[in-house]
Amino acid sequence: MSATLDLTTPASRPRPSAPASPALAQRSLLGLSREELGEALASVGVPQKQLRMRVGQLWHWLYVRGVSDFSQMANVSRDLRQTLSQHFEIRRPEIVEEQISVDGTRKWLFRFPARGAGRPVEIETVYIPEEGRGTLCVSSQVGCTLTCTFCHTGTQRLVRNLEPSEIVGQIITARERLGDFPAADTPAGAIVPSEGRLVSNVVMMGMGEPLYNYDNVKRALAVASDGDGLSLSRRRITLSTSGVVPMIPKTGEEMGVMLAISLHAVTDELRDVLVPINKKYPLEELMAACRSYPGLSNARRITFEYVMLKGVNDSLADARELVRLLKGIPAKINLIPFNPWPGTAYECSDWDQIERFADLVNDAGYASPIRTPRGRDIFAACGQLKSESERMKKGDRLALEAAVAV
Ligand code: SF4
Repeated sequence: MSATLDLTTPASRPRPSAPASPALAQRSLLGLSREELGEALASVGVPQKQLRMRVGQLWHWLYVRGVSDFSQMANVSRDLRQTLSQHFEIRRPEIVEEQISVDGTRKWLFRFPARGAGRPVEIETVYIPEEGRGTLCVSSQVGCTLTCTFCHTGTQRLVRNLEPSEIVGQIITARERLGDFPAADTPAGAIVPSEGRLVSNVVMMGMGEPLYNYDNVKRALAVASDGDGLSLSRRRITLSTSGVVPMIPKTGEEMGVMLAISLHAVTDELRDVLVPINKKYPLEELMAACRSYPGLSNARRITFEYVMLKGVNDSLADARELVRLLKGIPAKINLIPFNPWPGTAYECSDWDQIERFADLVNDAGYASPIRTPRGRDIFAACGQLKSESERMKKGDRLALEAAVAV
């Protein structure tokens, strides 16, 4: 079987939308807390006694109805709509490219305007439709400071953290493109869950280490989980970390979201190579932080991500050690067949070996699904995200085709 990337098919559909990356002239209202939204309205003259009502109206238009223009806010007076549009924006990121995999996975390349003296930045966001759920994989940083050696994003230097408006903007724009707001149509032929919300789950597993952008991620997820707006249950939001141990307790206490650990190795010696932050926060500290994660229970398990690398971490001895390591932690283990990218030195484990590994872990009582590779033909699978300009800069677009041929 081989999957090849055809950049001329509907898999690659340039989508011009917002004007190309103008300097940020107006403050975005997306991603503000209710309190900040109230302060923003007060700053343009909305009377104090109207603030609560106006915040409620705007919140509804922004997050329940998903409007992208102040003019669509029918129950807001014309004068106020005009004032709002003079001072603020609710613009979506520019969609530079939308790619659709043969399996229905969608990947968007989003561009956000320059901030200050910086340049416009690009990130990727991925939608994975499955039976009964639609998961959006959201980025938290442009590039990454960490250099996990199996991860393509890790080869792109950190440009900057994403703002709450830019994190929330990914969710809203994906929902908009999928027709997941009232009065919006789902594109013909789109593969989406047959019932329920089209974006039912969010995973902070895209580009970047979310706990290195803690405040902005926390603020964005507070907006995403607000019950009168985007209304994503915190149990359907998962934050994945490479193991920033000091921030893990705080994440549970303050965000209350589900936790995933990018584990990938069961000895410090190997994890120091695969996930170099391990040198700073070794396995013993990481496991201790997991054991005491606030709210941990059999109903709220930690997911441990484990990428299967041929001859590196996929032996049955590794599987046994994994079971020993996680003893006593309510856990799920996601086994991820390695998704190759241009220039990587790693290969995916043989399928038989992945199954033997999974059987051993399952027999020990851990649910350990083998994650079916999704979106490989559009380079959207786990660990493959990277901004397009970075790919083009490195001239590895052609190598990309070779890498996804399996
Ligand atoms: S796995 Fe996550 S933390 Fe590690 S380099 Fe990739 S994006 Fe960064």
